[in-house]
Amino acid sequence: MKFGVRFSYLLPMEPDEVIEDGLIVVEDDRIIYSGSYKETGDIPVIDTRPSIGMPTLINTHTHTAMVAYRGLADDLPLFKWLQEYIWPAESKTVNEEMVSLSFKLAIAEMINGGTGAINDMYFFQEVAAEVMEEIGFRGLLGEGLIDFPTPSFKTPDEGIKKVENQLRMKNMYKFARFSVCLHAPYSCSPDLIIKGYEIAKEYDVPLHMHVAETLNEVQQITEKYRKRPVEYLESLGILHDKFISAHSVHLSDNEIEIFKERNVKVAHDPQSNMKLSSGIAPVDRYIKKGITVGLATDGAASNNDLDMFEEMRTAALLHKVRTMDPEVMNAKAVVRMATIESAKVIGFDDIIGSLKVGKKADFIVISLESPHMQPIYDPYSHIVYTAKSSDVKWVFIDGKPLKKEGKLTFISDEEVREIGMKLKDMVLNSLK
Ligand SMILES: [Zn+2]
Repeated sequence: MKFGVRFSYLLPMEPDEVIEDGLIVVEDDRIIYSGSYKETGDIPVIDTRPSIGMPTLINTHTHTAMVAYRGLADDLPLFKWLQEYIWPAESKTVNEEMVSLSFKLAIAEMINGGTGAINDMYFFQEVAAEVMEEIGFRGLLGEGLIDFPTPSFKTPDEGIKKVENQLRMKNMYKFARFSVCLHAPYSCSPDLIIKGYEIAKEYDVPLHMHVAETLNEVQQITEKYRKRPVEYLESLGILHDKFISAHSVHLSDNEIEIFKERNVKVAHDPQSNMKLSSGIAPVDRYIKKGITVGLATDGAASNNDLDMFEEMRTAALLHKVRTMDPEVMNAKAVVRMATIESAKVIGFDDIIGSLKVGKKADFIVISLESPHMQPIYDPYSHIVYTAKSSDVKWVFIDGKPLKKEGKLTFISDEEVREIGMKLKDMVLNSLK
């Protein structure tokens, strides 16, 4: 099936230009034309003007199923938040049903706000893959390997076996890919870290880990191993071009050099780092060094939403305050970070992240109809500094509209509310 979508402004990201009166033509799941509007003959065209067309947003680090704990515990530092609230709640409530329900709710939230792909670290990822396939939502999924017992595996060795089983299932899915996830340098033994690296290498998939998130972590690792977190991981020989380092807030100059040398990818989570008072990752410095940086929300329990528009605005504003330089992290750089750079971080840039002919038809339509969107001079500026996720009117993934004229196509408002109530009951009952 062929159809076109017409926009007031088209931002293909590759090439790096703004096309006024733009058109995308889709055939089945692929883009077959991306450029200025032209007559399409028999091919029907959806006219979305006044609008901006751009690639779907890509969230490079999240724990999707944690929407179940949205607002359960706020205003705490990372270690207290994890040890006293999140880990106890997870040990009692995470199961296949919880992951399935949470994923459905979270995907509804993400598509509503223009996100079309994720990099996820959590548990029961084969259940998450089923939900993603059913809806048609893309992502990289990894079971969070960690030293202590979890709801989905009792020992690290059992966890490794589980991950290997998932990696063997990789061809079963169209939308889900699997990775290897190591929780963090402070929660994984050197032995587990090396085993995780070895299977990631064997199956040639990304290795995803929280790194240098807090000063507390830097202190713990330095005391234990006499090296800072990135130096420690480098000494284990596990850093490479498919390593996705989440947070990466506290890096020394030498550690930034190591990331550059090993071509490590960084997932930047500004709001989560602010909420947990973890600090500000100086990603403008990483980008200047040539390190690939993508944007992320982290889980909804430390954010408390999965809204990439908010994350874009936060990233743009936060670094200006940190550096006292208004030219840092300009609007276009931030839009790139949420699209094509994020696609590179998770290894999906061969299919998404830009609207090049031949790529998958994954794109969104931002409406310019609301008063706050008028007038418009520069679409990059509007996306970062003005637009809200509620301005997203259409979301196409694989050529299919999952949001159509402002309405989600795969879930009703009633089902969203029912899932929310069910999750709340599950969490509160198990915490009694
Ligand atoms: Zn995280």
